[in-house]
Amino acid sequence: AAGKAESGAKGEQDFHGVRLTHPGRLLYEEPAISKLDLAQYYVDVADRIMPHVKHRPLAIVRCPDGASGTCFFQKHLSAGMPDAIKPFSVKSKEGARESYVSIEDERGLIALVQFGVLEIHPWGASADDVDKADRIIFDLDPDPKVEWPDVIAAAKEVRDRLQELKLESFVKTTGGKGLHVVAPLRPAVAWEPVKRLTQAIAFSMAADKPALYLAKSSKAARGGKIFIDYLRNDRGSTAVAPYSTRARAGAPISAPLDWRELNARLRSDRYRLGNIRDRLAALPRDPWEGFFDIRQSLGAKTLSALKTS
Ligand code: ATP
Ligand code: MN
Ligand code: MN
Repeated sequence: AAGKAESGAKGEQDFHGVRLTHPGRLLYEEPAISKLDLAQYYVDVADRIMPHVKHRPLAIVRCPDGASGTCFFQKHLSAGMPDAIKPFSVKSKEGARESYVSIEDERGLIALVQFGVLEIHPWGASADDVDKADRIIFDLDPDPKVEWPDVIAAAKEVRDRLQELKLESFVKTTGGKGLHVVAPLRPAVAWEPVKRLTQAIAFSMAADKPALYLAKSSKAARGGKIFIDYLRNDRGSTAVAPYSTRARAGAPISAPLDWRELNARLRSDRYRLGNIRDRLAALPRDPWEGFFDIRQSLGAKTLSALKTS
């Protein structure tokens, strides 16, 4: 209980049942955020983030020396992970067994912090059935020259096109440069039609507004356009979780928004570890209320149209 006062980079403490070593070690510089601060953040938002990350394969961004040091994107389990991080075995397309990271509870979140994780990137599939997508995600990646209102318009256009298919979607900041539009799928849908559908939407947006949108991922050709990145929609692909911290200066958070909050002033790095909890405390309701209750999927008509296209 005296742990909070411990500010040196030495020592260790038990934090909600997980051993935290070097709790005072700084992970972010401006503002100063220690390992213990980060663990406390994840405990504080556990109810909000857990439904998005538990019981699914996770990729992680590890930064052993904090956000300003070298970070690496890790897809598989490695030795020496705390017990609360559970191995999850998935069969690859070639039939080989591969071991992934998964967590089931708050202790798992803290264990990720202990392991140097600054970003959590779940698959779009439950561990119960990794061959089916339980969410669609459009990752809008603007070239630096793109004006922010155009990014907002792109997100709304994706929303409207999903709406035409009777799919309600939700928007979040990434904590970086763009926005993510996410539609839950319940029941889950095989990856193949999900891939085709999201590709069809991205290609049709690029065909309709070629000066604004791009559906091919070549970075060189991005000049002044928004890449409608539909490639997150595949078995084994990942995207940063809602409420995950980012390994970037200022400790930005990928923050769920109400669609009505999208405006010219609200940039993607607006919400940070330093202000997200005040935001959540002040909100009358969860910005993604209903996300886990909505039952929506790809209709038979949509599925058969995708087969013949
Ligand atoms: P931004 O708004 O700045 O684009 P973002 O999280 O959408 O933020 P992207 O670069 O568009 O960033 O997305 C990359 C996504 O690809 C990540 O969310 C991650 O899940 C996935 N990914 C796959 N391989 C890697 C890798 N080697 N390094 C980083 N991300 C990877
Ligand atoms: Mn992106
Ligand atoms: Mn992208």
